[in-house]
Amino acid sequence: MEAKKIRKTFIEFFESKQHQYVPSAPIVVKNDPTLMFTNAGMNQFKDAFLGNEEAKYPRVANSQKCLRVSGKHNDLEEVGVDTYHHTMFEMLGNWSFGDYFKKEAIQWAWELLTEIYKLDKDRLYVSVFEGDKGDNLAMDKEAFDLWKAIVPEDRIIMGSKKDNFWEMGDTGPCGPCSEIHIDLRSDAERAAIPGKDLVNNDHPQVIEIWNLVFMQFNRVADGSLKNLPATHVDTGMGFERLVRAIQHKSSNYDTDLFTPFLYTLEVKSGKTYGKDEETDIAFRVIVDHIRAISFTIADGQLPSNNKAGYVIRRILRRAVRYGYTFLGFQEPFLYELCDLIAANFGDIFPEVRQQKDFISKVIFEEESSFLRTLDNGLKRLDQIKKEMAASGETVISGPTAFELYDTFGFPLDLTSLIARENGLSLDEKGFAQEMEKQKNRSRAASEQETGDWMIINEDVAVEFVGYDFLEAHSRILKYRAVSSKKGKLFQIVLDKTPFYAESGGQVGDTGWLISEGEKIRVIDTKKENDLIIHFVDKLPVKADTLFSAEVDAKKRKLTMNNHTATHLLQSALREVLGDHIQQRGSLVNDEVLRFDFSHFAKMSEEEILKVEQIVNEKIRENIHLNEQRNVPIEEAKQKGATALFGEKYGDFVRVITFDPKFSVELCGGTHVPYTSQIGLFKIVSEGSISSGVRRIEAITSVKAENYLRGQEQLVKEIQEILKNPADLKKAVESLLSERNELRREIDSLHQEKASGVKQELLKAVEPAGNKNVIIAKVTLPSADALKKLAFELKNEVEMALVVLAADIAGKPQIAVILDDALISSENLNAGQIVRDLAKEIQGGGGGQPFFATAGGKNLDGLDHVVVKAKAQFLK
Ligand code: ATP
Ligand code: MG
Repeated sequence: MEAKKIRKTFIEFFESKQHQYVPSAPIVVKNDPTLMFTNAGMNQFKDAFLGNEEAKYPRVANSQKCLRVSGKHNDLEEVGVDTYHHTMFEMLGNWSFGDYFKKEAIQWAWELLTEIYKLDKDRLYVSVFEGDKGDNLAMDKEAFDLWKAIVPEDRIIMGSKKDNFWEMGDTGPCGPCSEIHIDLRSDAERAAIPGKDLVNNDHPQVIEIWNLVFMQFNRVADGSLKNLPATHVDTGMGFERLVRAIQHKSSNYDTDLFTPFLYTLEVKSGKTYGKDEETDIAFRVIVDHIRAISFTIADGQLPSNNKAGYVIRRILRRAVRYGYTFLGFQEPFLYELCDLIAANFGDIFPEVRQQKDFISKVIFEEESSFLRTLDNGLKRLDQIKKEMAASGETVISGPTAFELYDTFGFPLDLTSLIARENGLSLDEKGFAQEMEKQKNRSRAASEQETGDWMIINEDVAVEFVGYDFLEAHSRILKYRAVSSKKGKLFQIVLDKTPFYAESGGQVGDTGWLISEGEKIRVIDTKKENDLIIHFVDKLPVKADTLFSAEVDAKKRKLTMNNHTATHLLQSALREVLGDHIQQRGSLVNDEVLRFDFSHFAKMSEEEILKVEQIVNEKIRENIHLNEQRNVPIEEAKQKGATALFGEKYGDFVRVITFDPKFSVELCGGTHVPYTSQIGLFKIVSEGSISSGVRRIEAITSVKAENYLRGQEQLVKEIQEILKNPADLKKAVESLLSERNELRREIDSLHQEKASGVKQELLKAVEPAGNKNVIIAKVTLPSADALKKLAFELKNEVEMALVVLAADIAGKPQIAVILDDALISSENLNAGQIVRDLAKEIQGGGGGQPFFATAGGKNLDGLDHVVVKAKAQFLK
């Protein structure tokens, strides 16, 4: 069965059991301070399990793009070395939200694996939670009995809390789980050692494929467990491992999910997969990493220097390094695999097909720039080798290896490889110490401590009323303290709030919480998952009371101007540049709007002007806002609403329209009721921020007005400086041409003078031994003129030794030039001579053996230079 069919079969199987298929959530997580990337199928349902949100369907099935390269789940170092952990993988899941429980979950899992996929029952093992004394929990008898009815008892393994009890975090929903493992060894191997002994033992052929989690408890703050009012099922099956089991392969990489990639790499590199373990690891690393890189870029995360972007950059570099070191790729190669990604995954994940060209361009640029860094690193390493040879050292020190790692992106394995090739060794311990030091440094910088929530009012649903009101009567539901290096703040959750929480590029609202006798400033509003959190720097004395929550209306209004202008800008860009324009990021606050979009060329002046004109036209048309909430997503898409890649949309969306023929966008932000409120739109900059992505910064209303007034003022001032000419432009032009004319004249005067000086000097040549010596004090207009003069003298005088002590616009300079023959025959060195003479002008310098210069501070010293040089060379 082909991989595509296996995925489809999974979904169809659960659809036949009344499950709703939902598409994968983006792989890049927004609005969750605890998570950068989706690392399990359950992430997108977290709010439903926590009770913050009602589940949309009682039964769901999906295939979720996951990435396990940071935080709690980090498999990066295993990837490529083993054959069943990936950075990016698909997690197939079936879900019950307060609907079915253990019985159906277990029966269906078994039915699907053994009857539909026809996996060999003799190779499967299941595990059951054995209980835990500390938590006062008995074994999961219910699951045990259910399994016993299907599989022989000796295939059931009892598992500890570590393996078989799943928890979302320190608090929250949790429960026992049952895992399904498969033994993929040969018959002979299986006869020799029973598979049961190898489950959960990191054996590469005895692996976990499916985890069925039964959520039935809630862990509360004091550490105890309470029964959940409703029970849920959350399952996760590694798709790549499943495909391998069904296709009877001994490695995930031998399945049709990866073989097309391996084949292409073989052709490109001229190397063969499956011959040599070191090369094989490189093959696997590359075909694994290209998926992680492509999928995250498709979901809007570009490689960069911090946070999630840095994680992606590191994965990309890891792939490039392996390709460079083991497969001989000295030029970018990864980007060429994007066609295969689109062809193999575009059906189920259309984003990688739609953005193929963009993804490949971004990867190409990253690769190219990293290969340059790598090159510099190799040069640095050459230098290190020389230094070590000179001092007789043979061990590359920890700090040196760390410098290569940190500055040049050289991983330890690469440095150690090169070391070995050169008969050197490497201080790995020292490297680890440096690494630890750096970790501590960055930990200290980012550390943030979050206190426990203090509950003031019992959980009620939180209501956002900020689309319609800038004020509300609100109560505090809960609050907690957060302290970081920047200081201590408090986070407050209100039952009802007009405060817009930062999202979709729009900044969070600021404002006040006002109660009797107290007024507390709200400094910022942000989302944590779907929870709206207000940041304050002090807590109200009386927390359990009614507050008037008031948004800073002036700031919000200016922000709205910029947000609507951003929509108009996006549509105008499409009109002027074409339909390929995709939003790549945006920032909207009360001062400025910033819009990043995919486009491969610099915008011309005319294009910028045209875009500006269109937006201002739309402003003057005074188009009214058409805001629709809760539009079914399909309907919105049919209307042609612009959606963002990597954005998580629900089934119902908010659609913001300014003229259905001009701008229709899915958007949660706040907008002006009429476009005329924006007043004026002005682009202030356009430039590139990374490969294929451009950024426009623009301002509106009062800001734009002030900007134009400033420009006008500037022109006025220039006019005054120029004594109010009738035609300002002409006046500046004639000033410039006059200046050019004068410069030409000066140049020719300088030349005349210099050639006069040269003639004088040629007359003053004094022979001394086999040398012809010129030593003189001269006055010259520039350092260039001095150099030119020195070279001309060398050319025109045989066996010349020239020392010029020059006054250059009041600054002393010395130039020494020698005939090349004198360097060896007389053992002379211009650099040494100039350094010695420079003492007379309190300066220093250097150069090459035949030509050197020095500058100094003491102009009066020039005469001494002449005397000293004469004493030295004219005897
Ligand atoms: P393992 O112990 O093998 O790392 P896990 O306990 O981390 O697995 P879960 O968190 O239970 O796995 O995830 C559910 C399923 O996802 C696993 O049963 C496995 O099939 C799959 N899986 C987990 N990590 C990876 C990975 N890095 N690459 C591919 N599949 C994975
Ligand atoms: Mg794991």
